[in-house]
Amino acid sequence: MISFITSAPLTLNPFPPKGAREVIAPQSIPDPLGEGCPKDRKGAASNNLDFCKWLIHKEIIMKRAVVNLLLLFVFFCGSADAEWFRGNTHTHTNLSDGDSSPETVVQWYKDHGYNFVVITDHNIDADVSKLNAAFSTKGDLFLVIPGNEISCKSEGKPVHLTALQVVKPLQPFNEATITGTIRKNIDEIQSAGAVAVVAHPNFQWAFGAKELDAAGNVKLMEVWNSHPIVNNAGGGGKPGTEEIWDALLSKGKHIWGVASDDTHALKDFSPHHANPGRGWVMVKCDRLAPEDIMSALERGDFYFSTGVELEKIEFDGKTFRVHVKRSEQALYTVEFIGKGGSVLSRVGSWGALYHIKGNEGYVRARITDSKGFRAWTQPFFTK
Ligand SMILES: [Zn+2]
Ligand SMILES: [Zn+2]
Repeated sequence: MISFITSAPLTLNPFPPKGAREVIAPQSIPDPLGEGCPKDRKGAASNNLDFCKWLIHKEIIMKRAVVNLLLLFVFFCGSADAEWFRGNTHTHTNLSDGDSSPETVVQWYKDHGYNFVVITDHNIDADVSKLNAAFSTKGDLFLVIPGNEISCKSEGKPVHLTALQVVKPLQPFNEATITGTIRKNIDEIQSAGAVAVVAHPNFQWAFGAKELDAAGNVKLMEVWNSHPIVNNAGGGGKPGTEEIWDALLSKGKHIWGVASDDTHALKDFSPHHANPGRGWVMVKCDRLAPEDIMSALERGDFYFSTGVELEKIEFDGKTFRVHVKRSEQALYTVEFIGKGGSVLSRVGSWGALYHIKGNEGYVRARITDSKGFRAWTQPFFTK
């Protein structure tokens, strides 16, 4: 789960003050080996006191240099905090029903501050080797991850799942029931070594918490899909996708939420088109590598956003802290949400703290800015 507690800073100073070596007086140098004067190259102990001191001095300096190098190594390795990587997990190109070539789509994401994008054309295993060769250069890393939007139909409704990091061929399975279709395709995606995300449940009001719960193997779902026709908010008595998520979390299901673009259109930007840049994940891991990104997604080490950026998410079992990366003129509301979607606490600030009582079931945070953009953390389960 979320474990973004900043490690304690190292107190070792890898950079000794300039001239530190010069203050070592030969007479104050302890015998490094406790064996008197070290041997010279010929193996004979030197009887020359000055030469002996020089040898000891040289040996100490070399040992200190080695120690300093080790300290530098420990400092850089030990304090290397994981980084946040921004990515879109749901992207179409003109290989299915997108309006732009894979190259144009990838270029857009690279130009707009993303670190990775997953190509998920309908029922097509993406071939990304040429894209990675073209867009990821040394010193300018950008990842194109192979995906596929497994697109099925069952009981007259669309059942779509994005498969991420597809390295073995996949095919869609249209089962007799929606629940069966979700379960079978997730099983297939997972046994091929890929990560499955349930896409836009409310598209054509296809399915809800009942089917997702019954499927039994859902680990990730789109709580926010930016396509204009997917009914994230619910209505007319139908729950929104966040309510569906809360219903599942309230049953104790450990399901992580995702926001995605479901990009289809780069030629015409309007509220009526599925344009890029509207919903993404911020993944916390050590390296920008497909396996690291996938592991972090599976662990829930990420948050998802439509525009609010977070500085820190800290959880130590007793307290849950959220810090927003403030943008100019925006104000923020942080809500801590528990079982049944109930708001446990609401704070009008860029930073907030919630003390865990232990009977919440789960606690997650939702941050809304004064422009209406949001970020959502993953839940922490209290029992
Ligand atoms: Zn879809
Ligand atoms: Zn799609």
